[in-house]
Amino acid sequence: AVALVWLRDDLRLDDQPALRAALERGWLPVPVYIHAPDDEGDWAPGAASDAWRRRSLAALAAELERRGSRLLLLHGPTLGTLQALAALTGAEAVLWTRRYEPAIEQRDAKIKRALRQAGLHAESFNGALLFEPWELATRQGDPYRVFTPFWRSARAAWRAPRTWDAPARLPSPDEAGVPHGVPLDDVLPAPRPAWDAGFWDRFVPGEAGARRALAHFVEHALGDYAAARDMAGEPGTSRLSPHLHFGEVSVQRVAAAVLAAGEAVAAADRDRFLAELGWREFAHHVLHHYPHVPGRNLDPRFEAFAWANPSPAKLQAWREGRTGVPIVDAGMRELWHTGWMHNRVRMIVASWLTKHLRLHWEHGARWFWDTLVDADLANNTQGWQWTAGTGADAAPYFRIFNPVAQAAKFDPDGAYIARWVPELAPLPVPARFAPWEHPDLLRRLAPAYPRRPQVDLAAGRQGALDAFAALRS
Ligand code: FAD
Repeated sequence: AVALVWLRDDLRLDDQPALRAALERGWLPVPVYIHAPDDEGDWAPGAASDAWRRRSLAALAAELERRGSRLLLLHGPTLGTLQALAALTGAEAVLWTRRYEPAIEQRDAKIKRALRQAGLHAESFNGALLFEPWELATRQGDPYRVFTPFWRSARAAWRAPRTWDAPARLPSPDEAGVPHGVPLDDVLPAPRPAWDAGFWDRFVPGEAGARRALAHFVEHALGDYAAARDMAGEPGTSRLSPHLHFGEVSVQRVAAAVLAAGEAVAAADRDRFLAELGWREFAHHVLHHYPHVPGRNLDPRFEAFAWANPSPAKLQAWREGRTGVPIVDAGMRELWHTGWMHNRVRMIVASWLTKHLRLHWEHGARWFWDTLVDADLANNTQGWQWTAGTGADAAPYFRIFNPVAQAAKFDPDGAYIARWVPELAPLPVPARFAPWEHPDLLRRLAPAYPRRPQVDLAAGRQGALDAFAALRS
């Protein structure tokens, strides 16, 4: 008998619980992916996500073929497509790993009910998190809103990560008379012009690329993670975020690899990295329990906050990396060229937008959503609300990043700025952090760069503090 293995943001075979369940229970697995961006509510995948997904699906299809199976690619509507395919193949079961975005949780619950009513075995598994969002709760039984106690209880409940290796050969779905699907180019055409070209110097989507990135990180960067993770210009982090978002590697596999490094790695580096996986867990916990957060402040006081009226020109300059603040511009251009931005710099550009420009964080979250290859509703919402001071366990609103001090501390040799804002490379290092303080140098050596920041640093900071004071009174 056949089981449809319905793949979603778990584009892997290794440690794949739905595939595993099909094989262990003696079903013939038919891997199927259904393209249905309309199912995602207000948050249909952005352009950079789609560029990644296209390559990830191609890699998955190739991997399945190498093992004697194949990927069936179809269009939505999702439920009708699953039902028709089950009827056609005589499938008994539909198996999948869970997602936690609010629109998807609702959709999947409906699909599960409808499939069961039709007499099919419908079952979902955890393939994305170390802890299900409903597994951890405060002593009062409430969801956590503060990271530290959340992570403390997670560590207390910790179990050794268990992983599963997919077999080298898989049965062919042709035995079940499975039809041929639609071509990848029909559902996710290649970007034209190829604005995504710069992404692929840094990333290789798909399971093999994810495994290589993990091995490279454990060997070369984990040992110095706690110190190097904040340095903007260094490859001090894993860059696993898009691979984790698309489920090309399981978080259990990542945790197991880090723990297996053993004595070779100091506990401080290992624990710091596991805690970042913990922030990912926390973001999913919060999104599951507070499904309104992608569109509203978790801290309801901020519903009355006096955000500035959006200025299209200021917003566009921020998006394009033309704010006149070098570290902000460097980050925004890194994002545009590579589909990714260093975490420290994400906080700096987000603080600039929500504090100095006092624009609502959703303007930033939407731009990130369209341009990040790791765009993830849980992590992105958390990152923006944390920086804006409106979220769970947020940085207080009055803590305003000074982009000059941040650049001097986390890009001390100015190499990150010079790399992404090359017109500033001729400036000596301290001038690279605040070029407006050196108008003669700027005019002579970097005439193409803005003469001054889009908002005066002190005035922007004061405006933010005044708006916050008004909210409190
Ligand atoms: P590493 O330091 O190697 O961390 C390992 C993994 O832990 C990451 O791959 C990621 O899955 C997880 N992780 C690390 N930091 C965080 C964090 N602060 N919150 C949640 N998970 C974390 N991350 C996304 O995956 N998608 C997003 O859309 C996203 N948007 C963000 C927006 C803002 C404004 C901010 C401040 C942060 C955002 N982050 C987002 C979190 C973080 O910046 C990225 O996860 C990280 O930079 C990815 O790089 P890495 O894989 O090298 O991280």
